[in-house]
Amino acid sequence: MTKLLYMNDSYMKECESIIEEVDNCKIVLNQTVFYPQGGGLPCDIGKFLKLGEEFIVLKVIKEDGRIIHYVNREGLQKGDNIKCAIDWDRRYTLMQYHTAAHVLAGTLNTDTGALITGNQIDLDKTRFDFDLEDFNREILEKQVEKVNSYFGIDIPVSVFYMPREEALQLPGMVKLASVLPPAVKELRIVKIGEIDTQADGGCHVKNLKEVPKIEIIELKNKGKNNRRVYFKFKK
Ligand SMILES: [Zn+2]
Repeated sequence: MTKLLYMNDSYMKECESIIEEVDNCKIVLNQTVFYPQGGGLPCDIGKFLKLGEEFIVLKVIKEDGRIIHYVNREGLQKGDNIKCAIDWDRRYTLMQYHTAAHVLAGTLNTDTGALITGNQIDLDKTRFDFDLEDFNREILEKQVEKVNSYFGIDIPVSVFYMPREEALQLPGMVKLASVLPPAVKELRIVKIGEIDTQADGGCHVKNLKEVPKIEIIELKNKGKNNRRVYFKFKK
């Protein structure tokens, strides 16, 4: 099992790894800083260095519980010691968007009871879908105003682990019970001040000081259970 270093330190940009499996251009490592695509988040890209020789990491996915790194060419071998480095600028933007999306989802849920039904984080915008009886631009604009009052100020984001049963007692966590398989005994919790607490496997910034203010790009009404909002960071 590949050790997922980004789970405990999302600011880790590099690591030393040993190659455990090679299948042409598909590589499995003993440990990695690369986030694999999933949970509405794109994967990291970057490079591997083997004695100064560079291999470009084009994509990273999760397949049958394994983390597969796709490199641009063959030449790596099982047992090789390599240095891994992610494209940090890209990752950092994704972290900012991811945290911003949690904050917006958290306040929307607290204020309206809406639940998030889907999301896609991107480098230039983020989309999420939610259910909400009464849907109009005013409600969303109000939420954006509210979250913008949190962005740029000192509100810590903490990541910790908790036994499943205990975690499900936390306020706001019950809604997640159905989506988390009972086999998961210990949950990774991401807590943003008093705004949002979620079980989550992705990378976040450590403080809302690091999140720029957002603005709505587009609203789409795809039915009562599927309202859609796109937002981006203000320039
Ligand atoms: Zn998340």
